[in-house]
Amino acid sequence: MQSLDDNVIATDSPKYPGAVERFNRSAALAKKHSAEINIKYAELENYIKHTQAHESMIMKRAYEFVDWYVQTVQLAESSVCRKGCSHCCHNPTTVLDIEARYISNRTGIPLSAVANASIDKSGPCVFLKHNQCSVYKYRPMVCRTFFAFDDPSECVDSHNDHIITQLDQIGPAQAVMLLLIKKLGHLQFLDIREWFYEKK
Ligand code: SF4
Repeated sequence: MQSLDDNVIATDSPKYPGAVERFNRSAALAKKHSAEINIKYAELENYIKHTQAHESMIMKRAYEFVDWYVQTVQLAESSVCRKGCSHCCHNPTTVLDIEARYISNRTGIPLSAVANASIDKSGPCVFLKHNQCSVYKYRPMVCRTFFAFDDPSECVDSHNDHIITQLDQIGPAQAVMLLLIKKLGHLQFLDIREWFYEKK
């Protein structure tokens, strides 16, 4: 399983001094806690493989593990992400159907999935209210694993190449997604704006 410490960056960003140091701080913690991380991951893997629980319970356990990982390697503390900043919530946000159902089940907000290429996926997320996530406790994996280490302004455009973590760079989180896909069968990815399409 690839981990954050496989992504240690050697040279600093000339535009944002300190950014690499911040990222590497968390990568070093991932290395330091790798044994514990592997044990917790193996426990979750065993649970997902064998449980007969409802998918929302499985999702809860999966999110708890990823939140624990994020906390253990102190991604929030190392990053420049701060409450009230919502730049990343204007970027495309790809979500699995089980995650969309989890939000819907936990909040009572109905799903209204429409796969629609014309929906603007770079506008604000449907759950962004007053610059804060209104479904924070139930937010999807991509949101739980996105952190910036250089400057929040770089997150305005999802095409900017800057120092961030995202789902596919966080090995344990990506591995959990693969476990879920294997367990729960055929799954569909859509943008969060498509899962919760709001007719204007
Ligand atoms: S679900 Fe929440 S954290 Fe994720 S993009 Fe939407 S508002 Fe932002």
